[in-house]
Amino acid sequence: MQSIDYIEFLGNAFEAFHDTQDRFRSHFQIDDYTNWYYDQATELLTLSTDNTEINFKYIPIGTFSTNSRTWMWAWHNSSSIEKSKDQALRIREFGQEKGYDKLIEGYFESDEYAGWEFIAIAHQLLGGIGGYNVKSEQVEKYMLLMEQIDNDVAAKIKEQTITCERHGANRMAFICQHLNTETQTGFEEAFPSYKGMELEEDDDLQAWCDQCELERLRTDGWNDESMEFAGIKLVCEDCYFEIKAFNLK
Ligand SMILES: [Zn+2]
Ligand SMILES: [Zn+2]
Repeated sequence: MQSIDYIEFLGNAFEAFHDTQDRFRSHFQIDDYTNWYYDQATELLTLSTDNTEINFKYIPIGTFSTNSRTWMWAWHNSSSIEKSKDQALRIREFGQEKGYDKLIEGYFESDEYAGWEFIAIAHQLLGGIGGYNVKSEQVEKYMLLMEQIDNDVAAKIKEQTITCERHGANRMAFICQHLNTETQTGFEEAFPSYKGMELEEDDDLQAWCDQCELERLRTDGWNDESMEFAGIKLVCEDCYFEIKAFNLK
């Protein structure tokens, strides 16, 4: 049983969302885009036609299973790896404040209207420029779109993102094979860095140990020989800064 209070709240949320969604669909001519692709690592939704594409940053809100006729909130879904799914927890907190069961339980029986109902509520609480749903197999995934991302920027984000076993999707960084969080080896960098910093077009986060620095100086800058000694490998940005913090202790 849903309370009168909830039904009223939902009604308002729907009304506001309806306007936003109408504007979104006409502004971007969303119905012209026949192909969709979303990537959990970059949290980008790409819509395309044969000759054009458009990108949006999304927050996963939840999924509706047409098979079991159940709704699952993204924050409850362990196969959803998007970092932004935690933002959907604000909806749960709100539900707890108000005592709205549907916003609190992670998984429950529902009907096919659930997705848009919860997108409207997500829009009310989190903002955004529109909603989108995609259907694959027996699952409809509902996303709240937060902003359009320029195609060039989107391409760059896709290029620079890796999925770390420990930290999930993250920007990539490069370190020499000797750096770790067990033995202090010294920490040399291409330029002073901090987490989340904006990088110039051709810059990457790059670090190497004292031994590598000696090699680099000996070979008068990086060449094949010193590069081979360094054995540069790829890590995620969080790993990079953990190693940095450990080495600068
Ligand atoms: Zn090294
Ligand atoms: Zn990592």
